[in-house]
Amino acid sequence: MVNRIAAGEVVERPASVVKELVENAIDAGARRIEVATAGGGLSLIRVTDDGVGLERDDLPLAVERHCTSKLDGGLDAIATLGFRGEALASVGAVARLSITSRRRGADEGWAIGVDGGRVSAPVPAAAAPGTRVEVSDLFFATPARLKFMKSERAETAAITETVRRLAMTNPDIRFSLSGPDRALTDFAATGASGFAERLEQILGRDFRENSVEIDAERAGVRLSGRAGLPTYNRGNAVQQYLFVNGRAVRDKQLLGALRGAYADFIGRDRHPVAALFIDLPPDMVDVNVHPAKAEVRFRDPGLVRGLVVGAVREAIAGAGHRATRTGAAAMTDAFARRAPAPAAFRSAAAPREPYGAPLPGFVAPPGLGEAVQALFADLPASADVRADAPAPATADPARPLGVPRAQIHENYIVAQTADGLVVVDQHAAHERLVYERLKAALASSAVPRQLLLVPEIVDLPEDDVGRLADRAAELAELGLVVEPFGPGAVAIREVPALLGKVDGAGLVRDLADELADIDSAATLRSRLDRVAGTMACHGSVRSGRRLRPEEMDALLRDMERTPHSGQCIHGRPTYIELKLADIERLFGRR
Ligand code: ADP
Ligand code: MG
Repeated sequence: MVNRIAAGEVVERPASVVKELVENAIDAGARRIEVATAGGGLSLIRVTDDGVGLERDDLPLAVERHCTSKLDGGLDAIATLGFRGEALASVGAVARLSITSRRRGADEGWAIGVDGGRVSAPVPAAAAPGTRVEVSDLFFATPARLKFMKSERAETAAITETVRRLAMTNPDIRFSLSGPDRALTDFAATGASGFAERLEQILGRDFRENSVEIDAERAGVRLSGRAGLPTYNRGNAVQQYLFVNGRAVRDKQLLGALRGAYADFIGRDRHPVAALFIDLPPDMVDVNVHPAKAEVRFRDPGLVRGLVVGAVREAIAGAGHRATRTGAAAMTDAFARRAPAPAAFRSAAAPREPYGAPLPGFVAPPGLGEAVQALFADLPASADVRADAPAPATADPARPLGVPRAQIHENYIVAQTADGLVVVDQHAAHERLVYERLKAALASSAVPRQLLLVPEIVDLPEDDVGRLADRAAELAELGLVVEPFGPGAVAIREVPALLGKVDGAGLVRDLADELADIDSAATLRSRLDRVAGTMACHGSVRSGRRLRPEEMDALLRDMERTPHSGQCIHGRPTYIELKLADIERLFGRR
């Protein structure tokens, strides 16, 4: 009964069994670990390793509660993943467990079985050196728990995630994951480039190309790994891999720190991708606060949080205006798929076929040349500023965003770089620039304000009017002067000069929402990021405006100077880049 109760904490779901068994294999010094599952791990979990193995007499001890071979150094110097001696006893209490093992160097193997808590005597068994643990009919002894299992598919996926996490910190071990409920996964043991290679096996090359390296240290705490560019974000937090002294954790404080690091660059409903390793002396962290060891307690939580937020932010800033390359890759693919069949060009007699999805109604020959001419003839003169622009620098590393060549659709700047072209979303870019400037201005002193010639009156619910009125003095300091205008409206009298022309109604409505979210005890200054973000969002009026060549150039240069300008404040890219090589590929020149 005691074991079954303990099992409730250690063995929450099939993935927790997999975690315990694989950790045991790692602790046993395995070079190769095979995991097989069926029925989401509920029917079968089998973990086979080539580690040191167990002797006959140790088998009954291994499945006994609180029996462990790993505490020789005491609780303060834990170097293994396991140490509680609870896993096998717990699993044996709620499932059918069998262990077959052959000690390294021994010439025979032994097997033991546990069935709903009853342990059988060891019997000789044929076995390769190492250990094979089989768990079947998980939770058959605790039907209440069985009822709480999610779908088989969800359990299968959770097991995969568990194995990925364990594989990430052990690149020199080969991991395979197979079974009728899944596709085969096989992570080969890596060579000298260990971690980077394993990360690529797990997260794909995409992540490698869209992430920055993290390597920082503060007061004996080391942070390493890779953090994704803000534009390479995801809809959930599954791809956030955090490790403390090699142990995978889902620690709320650490996840919060990661969120904090990206708060400026990613919308609240999006999540960064990262694999981060925190290494610190064992006496600076307590891993024994959670039965599944998913949470940890740092002796100095502020230090660790500061390190994560600081190092990740700095690394992202170091990537400067760099945006994800995935967008460009997707675009190249999209173009490539729509490329017309060459035959259409060869025969003038070919039937008139649509030239592809992006240009409906644009037809292939005859008359291709004239059609193109006609298209450009209709464009306003501002669409082509080639004549005015300075000659492109051939390879000017100081100007990675290139020389502006044209503005199209009154929002996209096309620039020529040393080895390709860049298309800037001027609205998104401007939003980021305004935000960064606003934040700097807000942080230093009171913000220059601009008087509206005619106050803008905005109708609002009474609550919202109250919230804005309560914060009026603080808002004025931030450059926004609003006052109640009757019970159901406010008048906007002054706005931060930086914003230019403002969408006042949108601004105060969103601000009122923000205020509702901000704890009344907190000052707006302590929430500058959010307030500045909301303001920047409504002050970006450059979209839809034709820009002169100097203005375009100024915008690009500004972007190069401004931190984080590769993404707008919602985490979308502000520009995309096509390399000449990509363009040549599109035209079949490569
Ligand atoms: P813990 O890992 O916390 O010590 P477990 O219940 O997971 O507790 O395992 C109990 C003991 O069984 C371990 O301390 C170890 O000596 C032994 N053991 C478990 N799995 C293996 C394995 N795959 N290879 C060798 N020994 C193992
Ligand atoms: Mg263990």
